[in-house]
Amino acid sequence: MSQRRKFIKQSLAGSALFLPGAVSAFSSFDERNPKTGEIPLILSTWNHGVPANAAAWAKLKETNSILDAVEAGVRDTELDMDNLSVGLQGLPDREGITTLDASIMTGDGGCGSVAFVRQIKHPISLARAVMEKTPHVMLAGEGARQFAIAQGFPLEEEVLSPKAQIEYDKWKVTSQYKPIINIENHDTIGMIGIGSNGMLAGSCTTSGLAYKMHGRVGDSPIIGAGLYVDDEVGAATATGLGETIIRICGSFLIVELMRQGRSPQEACEEAVRRLVTKSKNIQDIQAGFLAINKDGETGAFAVHPGFNFAKATASGNLLIDSKSHF
Ligand code: ASP
Repeated sequence: MSQRRKFIKQSLAGSALFLPGAVSAFSSFDERNPKTGEIPLILSTWNHGVPANAAAWAKLKETNSILDAVEAGVRDTELDMDNLSVGLQGLPDREGITTLDASIMTGDGGCGSVAFVRQIKHPISLARAVMEKTPHVMLAGEGARQFAIAQGFPLEEEVLSPKAQIEYDKWKVTSQYKPIINIENHDTIGMIGIGSNGMLAGSCTTSGLAYKMHGRVGDSPIIGAGLYVDDEVGAATATGLGETIIRICGSFLIVELMRQGRSPQEACEEAVRRLVTKSKNIQDIQAGFLAINKDGETGAFAVHPGFNFAKATASGNLLIDSKSHF
């Protein structure tokens, strides 16, 4: 468990915590009746969601665009040198190469994603460029990198961050291939939000499973798995072992369950229940979901304890522990 997460855990007095790092408009903690959710609203995965939400909120105030907000929010995490599961500082694949996955979506059906991309510091902005500047939804690998160059994205040097290098060197001692994401080793950021105009958007970005096979792609860039957004209903995002999330089309499933009348919480719980029934070795696997509906109600649920998320409204930017199946 990272020192950062340990610190947050030790600091938690109850199930929710008001943290510094929020923008100045956030002055008090007032957990409202979830049935009358506050809008605007931004939810994001893990404790790095707190600074990411703050960055997203500041952007929302500046441009009034929830799309701009969810892009700016996770760009903050893509630069977080302490995060070993997002951005170029993330842990590499088993060949020692860091490859990134990201997706972005708007509630009117706009979506873009990049997978298995190298040397790009902000894959979320590249995903947005795919959405806005190509007739496609998804670009992968060398093609995504070439598109990035054509769009003027700078190419970063391909070296591991000092922390990732230390961890990779330790891993190489045994080189044990264990494609598992448990409660200790994942940190992807997924962010979903609704603006004051009722429009929804979401973003998701990751370096994926540590020491994965070269070429492995997780759920995060797969529209409907790591992220799904529909202005008529709501939005959902995922973190955890991507293979289990892809298998159940997790985020799409949650949005469709909400469309059929489930609350965001009920929909997240049903998605986890389905994931649990379809996954082997579930005792070793962590996955978690976040959801919002268009009324600003929220939901969060994980396979195991340990998943937390940040919730930003005009009342505060809170770190909240998710409930879990086990
Ligand atoms: N969902 C990501 C993946 O499977 C990993 C994570 O959430 O840490 O690539």
